[in-house]
Amino acid sequence: MEKLELLAPAGNLEKLKVAALYGADAVYCGGFSFGLREGADNFSYQDLKDGAEFLHERGKQLYVTVNMIPHNEDLKGLPEYLHQLEEIGVDALIISDPGVLKIIRDEDIDLSLHLSTQANAVNYASVAFWHDLGMERIILARELSKDEIKEIRKKTDVSLEMFIHGAMCISYSGRCLLSNYFVNRDANRGQCAHSCRWKYHLVEEERPGEYYPVFEDKNGTHIMNSKDLCLIEHIPEVINTGVDSLKIEGRMKGMHYVSCVVSTYRKAIDSYYEDPENYEFKQKWLDDLRKVSHRGYTKGFFLHPPTEEDQNYESSAYKRTYDFMGVVRGFDSENNEALIEVRHKFFKGDVIEILKHDGEIKTETVDYIINEEGKEVADAPHPKEIIRVPVEGEYQKLEVVRREVRK
Ligand code: SF4
Repeated sequence: MEKLELLAPAGNLEKLKVAALYGADAVYCGGFSFGLREGADNFSYQDLKDGAEFLHERGKQLYVTVNMIPHNEDLKGLPEYLHQLEEIGVDALIISDPGVLKIIRDEDIDLSLHLSTQANAVNYASVAFWHDLGMERIILARELSKDEIKEIRKKTDVSLEMFIHGAMCISYSGRCLLSNYFVNRDANRGQCAHSCRWKYHLVEEERPGEYYPVFEDKNGTHIMNSKDLCLIEHIPEVINTGVDSLKIEGRMKGMHYVSCVVSTYRKAIDSYYEDPENYEFKQKWLDDLRKVSHRGYTKGFFLHPPTEEDQNYESSAYKRTYDFMGVVRGFDSENNEALIEVRHKFFKGDVIEILKHDGEIKTETVDYIINEEGKEVADAPHPKEIIRVPVEGEYQKLEVVRREVRK
């Protein structure tokens, strides 16, 4: 049985490497323009080149998003940009707008094309339409059930991709004007302010300043605040839909998210392919996914249309039980010390977890901390400082360190 692809997001070059090292088969990212995530660091020309090289050396793929819904002014510079992506040799462009497709054809750009979820393909006719126009892959809308995906699969040969994890929109993915309306930031041009997560009141026009609560419960209402998608409990059903690629959402997310989510799905997918008949879901996988910040988990539309259980009415804040502490920059095998770049304050005595690239998660106790000046210290508060801590295991560069949030 040929394994399907695990596709991970990357907001910058380092996260791209992390995604690949933790087991992604392919990575998608925004280039230096025309993607849909203005808030992500995004990639320079050189970053994209280095990223493509890093992935290709490992037999992996790089897809670049050009999926904004551009207005006239946004098209300036697009042909040049597309030629640069072609020169770099990215493996596919993710697009959604027919105008962008026309420019790609007019410019004779020889790159594989994937239809973005932003185009909201929810039926087999729409999939066939885009396939006929030359799309080599269709990224299905998130608003589809397992049975709908299976039916689409039966009726087309084109490569199909579906989302398995990450944030959901309350509208059809991305096609939403809430953010434009409230703060003049266009979600379809990469500037979404996530207005659907906000807490809403009712105001009568003659009584400005008088906010009438709209009660879901004592916390008010977050009527449009969807929980995050998580299909880790349904890997066999997901694989048996017949899709070719499983996508993790989150180009704005941090290194802990990328490492943990990629690694967890990698383990589940590999475990299924090793022995499909005797595959067993492991509760530990879900427990691990709960350690990255999230808004509660939902199965989206996969099993049935969402209900009130799939909304987070309490708060739009993330649930965060673990802190991203740092990233391994080196290993001193003589002294058994890991060199860790600090991202969150370390304390002597901390119990940390190090996520290894092969999926193992090791627990270590920080018995001492040596700072950059070679002095032993009780804590390490400075982000970016490289500290030495004693470890029992052996670690590699770009392995991620986390710790339970201190009470
Ligand atoms: S405001 Fe919410 S529903 Fe609208 S595009 Fe942004 S995340 Fe999606």
